[in-house]
Amino acid sequence: MAIDPTQPYDDDNIFAKILRGEIPNKTVYEDEWVLAFHDINPQAPEHVLVIPKGRYVSWDDFSAKASDAEIAGFVRAVGHVARAAGMVEPGYRLLANVGQHGHQEVPHLHVHIFAGKPLGPMLMRS
Ligand code: 5GP
Repeated sequence: MAIDPTQPYDDDNIFAKILRGEIPNKTVYEDEWVLAFHDINPQAPEHVLVIPKGRYVSWDDFSAKASDAEIAGFVRAVGHVARAAGMVEPGYRLLANVGQHGHQEVPHLHVHIFAGKPLGPMLMRS
C-alpha cells in the first residue's frame, strides 16, 4: 500500500530495521551518510536502493529538512554507487517514489538505481 509522505517517521519501517542490522541486506556500499543494497525484488538486471542514514520519510521530507552535508553526502553516494558498478556507460535510471501517486511503499527515503539493460520508456503508458 502506498504511504502518506506527510506522516511522521516510523522507526519500525523495514529500512530502519535494515539500518539497525535487524534485517539482513546485500550491501553494495556504505559510508557515514548512506547505505546502498540490492533490492529484494529486482525490476532490472541491476537494481540497487540507496538510503540516507537519517530518519527521513521521503524525498519531500529530506529535501526540506536534511542538512547540506546530508544532502551532499547522499547525492554524491548515489553517483558513486552507479559509477563504481560501471553503470555510467551504457547508462542507468534513478527513481524516487513519493507518496500515493508515486506509489511509495517504504516510508524511508530511497533512490532506486536500475541498470543492466535498455530500460525502455520512462513511464508505462495506459
Ligand atoms: P517503493 O515502492 O517504496 O519505491 O519501493 C520499495 C522497494 O523496497 C521495492 O522495490 C521492494 O522490492 C524493496 N524492498 C521491500 N522490502 C525490502 C527488504 O526487506 N529488503 C530489500 N533489500 N528490499 C526491500
